[in-house]
Amino acid sequence: MKHELPMLPYALDALAPKMSRKTLEFHHGKHHQAYVDNLNKLAAGTRFEDMPVEAIIREADAGPLFNNAAQVWNHTFFFDGLTPQQKLKEPEGMLLEAIEMSFGSFGSMKEQFSKAATALFGSGWVWLVIDGKELDIVPTANAYNPLKDGKTPILTLDVWEHAYYLDYQNRRAEFIANFWDLVDWEKVQQRFERGELKK
Ligand code: MN
Repeated sequence: MKHELPMLPYALDALAPKMSRKTLEFHHGKHHQAYVDNLNKLAAGTRFEDMPVEAIIREADAGPLFNNAAQVWNHTFFFDGLTPQQKLKEPEGMLLEAIEMSFGSFGSMKEQFSKAATALFGSGWVWLVIDGKELDIVPTANAYNPLKDGKTPILTLDVWEHAYYLDYQNRRAEFIANFWDLVDWEKVQQRFERGELKK
């Protein structure tokens, strides 16, 4: 199986100025592409050769193959969770209820997520996940993905410097604040409904 770089679900300049064309050209066209290329090279001739990315993440041990497979999945998931035309400013229905149950309010969830993203040292990701009977916010280092721990991601933010440096330089907090205006809550709701909370 040859893995391929998925197309972005919007134009390169569609998220500007909060995420510029230049950032997406590099982040999607160079970084995400490089993870795909590395994954193909590393999986070739191994038992992982014909496995979907998610299966590689679940089965591979820590190391270059895991890192590149996870980075492929993480970036696809991240870019797919953004939209240039936010129909919902916040989630509705069952997802909103679950957020209120787990964090008290939508505002409090955003605050905790933003805090985790600001505090994450070095490179990594912050995730909103389904963890059994509740939602949780999980920061992970480098490429690590909560699927590895049996959790179901429904939203993520990339806080590697390459995600924001061209637009924000060292101002990570500003990048995080603007991220909320790009989240595709309809998509996050669909992911939540597919994953569901355990009763
Ligand atoms: Mn990235």
